[in-house]
Amino acid sequence: MNIVRVALDLPVPKLFDYLAPDCLESDIGRRVSVPFGKGSRTGVIVGLAAASEQPDAKLKAVTAILRDMPALPADWLALCEFCASYYHTPLGEVTSFALPPMLRRGKLPRIKKALRGAFACLPSAIPITQHAATPSTPAPAPVLPQLMAAQQSAVEAIFTTNGFHAMLLHGVTGSGKTEVYLRAIDRVLARGGQALMLVPEIALTPQLEGRVAARFPGANIVCANSGMTDAARARGFIEALGGRAEIVLGTRLAVFMPLPRLQLIIVDEEHDASFKQQEGLRYSARDVAVWRAHQLNIPIVLGSATPSLETFHHAQPRSAPATVQSQTSHATFPSRGGDSSSPQGVSDSLPGSAVGRCGGGASRYRMLELPERAVAEAMPIVRIVDTRREKLQEGLSAVLLAGLQQRLERGEQSLVFLNRRGYAPVLACPPCGWVSRCRRCAANLVVHLADQRLRCHHCGFEALIPRACPDCGNVDLLPFGRGTQRLEAMLAERFPAARVLRVDRDSASTPKKWQALLATIHAGEADILVGTQMLAKGHDFPLLTLVGAVGADAALFAADFRAPERLFAQLMQVGGRSGRADLPGEVLIQTEYPEHPLYRALVDHDYARFARTQLEERRIAGFPPFSFQAMLRAEARDIEQSLVFLSAARRAAEALAHGVTLYDPVPMRLQRLMTLERGQLLVESLSRPALQAFLAKWMETLYALKMPAGLRWHLDVDPLEF
Ligand code: ADP
Ligand code: ZN
Ligand code: ZN
Repeated sequence: MNIVRVALDLPVPKLFDYLAPDCLESDIGRRVSVPFGKGSRTGVIVGLAAASEQPDAKLKAVTAILRDMPALPADWLALCEFCASYYHTPLGEVTSFALPPMLRRGKLPRIKKALRGAFACLPSAIPITQHAATPSTPAPAPVLPQLMAAQQSAVEAIFTTNGFHAMLLHGVTGSGKTEVYLRAIDRVLARGGQALMLVPEIALTPQLEGRVAARFPGANIVCANSGMTDAARARGFIEALGGRAEIVLGTRLAVFMPLPRLQLIIVDEEHDASFKQQEGLRYSARDVAVWRAHQLNIPIVLGSATPSLETFHHAQPRSAPATVQSQTSHATFPSRGGDSSSPQGVSDSLPGSAVGRCGGGASRYRMLELPERAVAEAMPIVRIVDTRREKLQEGLSAVLLAGLQQRLERGEQSLVFLNRRGYAPVLACPPCGWVSRCRRCAANLVVHLADQRLRCHHCGFEALIPRACPDCGNVDLLPFGRGTQRLEAMLAERFPAARVLRVDRDSASTPKKWQALLATIHAGEADILVGTQMLAKGHDFPLLTLVGAVGADAALFAADFRAPERLFAQLMQVGGRSGRADLPGEVLIQTEYPEHPLYRALVDHDYARFARTQLEERRIAGFPPFSFQAMLRAEARDIEQSLVFLSAARRAAEALAHGVTLYDPVPMRLQRLMTLERGQLLVESLSRPALQAFLAKWMETLYALKMPAGLRWHLDVDPLEF
């Protein structure tokens, strides 16, 4: 046993063997520095072997086994192996991604002496049983609200069943979900456990950090998100690994934090698209979190006011027609195939198999409803404004304008919600037909009047707004359409006495600017807010009593079948910002489709009805969650090259595809991005295991194909974007 098997961050699906005469069983999970090519690399030891398939003469020796921090535990390695196999990504790329950058490079952060327990001198990983919880320093106990009955039973539900179980905590903003999380965390800490809480975009929600810190004053709370410095991230990782972190609060990457005493996982706003990474390792942190809870045999709570349809579907009784007719009912996660490193029987015991254990009617996930707001005020009143027969003023209806005027007079705040930043989506020259196009992408350049620029929202290209048409010299160029900057300008003109504040990714480009904007809003120093979905996330605005949504219809007929789901979530979320404290809220939705079921459901605050109609449509169309998808994408200098590769990939797939539908390669909707021409090929199956088995074989053939220079491809399992 003097050979170590090393996972290296390379785009090849294999491990690398090195000689390591002094290696020990306890070195599995350690970082190791090895010679590679002309240089050296850092990887992770994932196994030991007595012999290598490579001839001995070819084996090189490791440079150093890094024993300066505890080894990564077996369950962490298994988690990475699961991701490697499920997302068909080389293990070395996964382990590398799962480590904070500093540790990935073989370095260690400097640790202050004051930190409890110097990890550096620890000889190896601390066995879980020997490591007691860090006793919380006594601190003034916060005064806790008396739980409502629904909250109480939700907390009980988390702890009444032992072992793995997944719950959907469904309740509108203000229904007390966070309070339920905090109570559950409290119990876990009391038992000496660790809790992991995933949230979307923690940069936008330091208030949650504050709330958790205030509730657990003595606890060791570790944050994990990409906005932190390398050293801080590495320190947090080591705190978690050493068992000293009690609560880990983070964005999607936190799902990879090693936690030897993990007893509870919470995923807040589980529907949020930011849990899915769109490049590199294209994982869904929510899905991986469910797998991890299963792996560790612990409970997981998925919370949302507008759950993803996948999660909502899992929380429906299985006798519902929507599930009975589908053939997919026992495949929430795939088996690891014949791979012996997989935990035993994963495919049988994952959420999908609740059927087997609980009999016919049981759902995979338990539904925990919080039907009322915890705080006194009622839900906002949602009204539909039919704009079909009205001449709008800069896109705003008379009803909305009157509502804004009324709030101004009463000294209350309003918000006009438009999910499109910039001044106008395009600049055009009507006489000759010129429009502002990005040179690198198949997209229009957006007019940003605030800084006199044209900007591509896809690749970041920017140019000064031309004084005259580049084609014909005409100086009367016209911005077409409407973005937040234009609305802002129009509102400022229309309501000269009002303080109009725009909140979008341009005005809140740094966390500091974002905090300043929030402070302005909270201080009541703004009357009319103009904002994108940025404003919809997790913030309470006590003075806000009116929300007007404009331009929402576009999402109703978008090519992406998930667009209505996202629209509903956004409108519900943005509406939830209004009507807190003692001021009732009102939401006005401008639309040309006043009878659309999505809007009707919003009026009734009936997410479940919306979700059921959407699920029925998806069932008929054979879309997820009634089918399982993966997308192969390719990019090259010209579209032909991409499509030729995808066609070859499709031909290679034909012999392998059993129970899997192969679609035709097509150019992507945004065909050109950053000068690369992109195509995609969708594959789909009614069975997740069938899809996974196919993908495994398919990827082997693709890795073996000779790629033309300049062509890149990747696979996206459970893609969210089309
Ligand atoms: P959500 O996470 O669903 O938006 P929160 O847990 O943040 O809801 O609760 C909304 C507000 O109500 C918070 O200010 C919280 O402190 C308060 N709250 C929650 N539960 C209760 C309760 N049982 N009694 C009184 N206030 C509560
Ligand atoms: Zn561009
Ligand atoms: Zn022109």
